[in-house]
Amino acid sequence: MSPDPVPAPAPGQDPAAAFRDAFGAEPEGVWHGPGRVNVIGEHTDYNDGLVLPIALPQGITAAVSRTGDRSVQVVSHGRTESAAARFGLADLAPGSVTGWAAYVAGVFWALREAGHEVGGARISLTSDLPIGSGLSSSAALETAVAVAVTELYGLDGLRADLPELARLAQRAENGYVGAPTGILDQSAALRCVEGRALYLDCRSLAARNVPFDLASAGLRLLVIDTRVHHSHAEADGGYRVRRAECERAAKILGVPALRDVEDLAGALRRLPDPVLRDRVQHVVTEIHRVNATVGLLRAGAYAEIGTLLSMSHLSLRDQFRISCPELDLAVETAVAAGARGARMTGGGFGGSAIALVAADRLDKVREAVTAAFRRQGWTEPGLITALPSPGARRVDA
Ligand code: ADP
Ligand code: MG
Repeated sequence: MSPDPVPAPAPGQDPAAAFRDAFGAEPEGVWHGPGRVNVIGEHTDYNDGLVLPIALPQGITAAVSRTGDRSVQVVSHGRTESAAARFGLADLAPGSVTGWAAYVAGVFWALREAGHEVGGARISLTSDLPIGSGLSSSAALETAVAVAVTELYGLDGLRADLPELARLAQRAENGYVGAPTGILDQSAALRCVEGRALYLDCRSLAARNVPFDLASAGLRLLVIDTRVHHSHAEADGGYRVRRAECERAAKILGVPALRDVEDLAGALRRLPDPVLRDRVQHVVTEIHRVNATVGLLRAGAYAEIGTLLSMSHLSLRDQFRISCPELDLAVETAVAAGARGARMTGGGFGGSAIALVAADRLDKVREAVTAAFRRQGWTEPGLITALPSPGARRVDA
């Protein structure tokens, strides 16, 4: 069965009541997978580099029960409508389930491919996370389902192994859905903890939870959803093209990944193509900016990271070329209205920007960005304040 388009998320729905509506019974449990924003370290994950995301309070909630057979029924509840899909586990193969339910089917497929046997499930999804806004609703969905299913089917070893669970969720997205995304989103959704940012080495998957208590420094992280949507699953998408460019550059430079470039000036001299030079410059300097940001956070110099955020944006705009007029306007307006720094976040070509703002300037920045979008005749941006939140977990027990 081919699923309907995914319904618009609706904050405030009761997950257990939604499950009862869909299946006429109580769920065995309720799990939550968070969205994320990446504070800094963009397009570094698939270059084996470093990233620094936080998980959001917003996310996708999965109310789930086991079924006695090998079938999965899944309903996604929106504001005014819901969408449903159904698939069997026996004949699961990439392409057998399409549309939004592929993200769910992909998790069951990736578990099986890795040798973990699970049975069927009834899954009811509710969400307060905008889709395609660069806040990673896809990983929120994958991780909510992954923690639910591993807990319900007693895969305790896997459930405790968060790096491996992140790899499985990534495999669902890469191998089943067909979106060539890195390990950032799933790691953030699984491994973040409250009040901290996740300093993650995307090669070794070693991670540290570093302090990110902006409130103690009188600061807020404002997320500006431009409402320009993107899909990283597109065959000719810019995300895919950037990834291929980075791989080509690494090959020419004779390194396993751009993370291994030690002498940037020398590397730039050896690349004949100016486009590849720009891409390499972004990735290498962005990895340095992640380390510099972590150093400042550990020193409690929160406001000082603003400059690094703004430098990251310029690099993404001018060297990596994945910004767009809406992201640029959001960033420029936020800084002009007093933000300590701002940048686009996520894969690019739309989605969201973040701005580091003193608490007493927050309203001014919000109003300035909204007014600037209105002047352009653009859809009003979505504005949320990002609080560093825990990773995917059971929420009803
Ligand atoms: P992002 O992860 O930045 O939000 P993606 O294109 O990676 O954007 O993933 C968005 C996709 O995830 C949607 O097109 C849909 O297939 C799936 N998805 C997100 N939220 C939901 C939801 N509440 N119900 C069903 N599917 C969802
Ligand atoms: Mg995604």
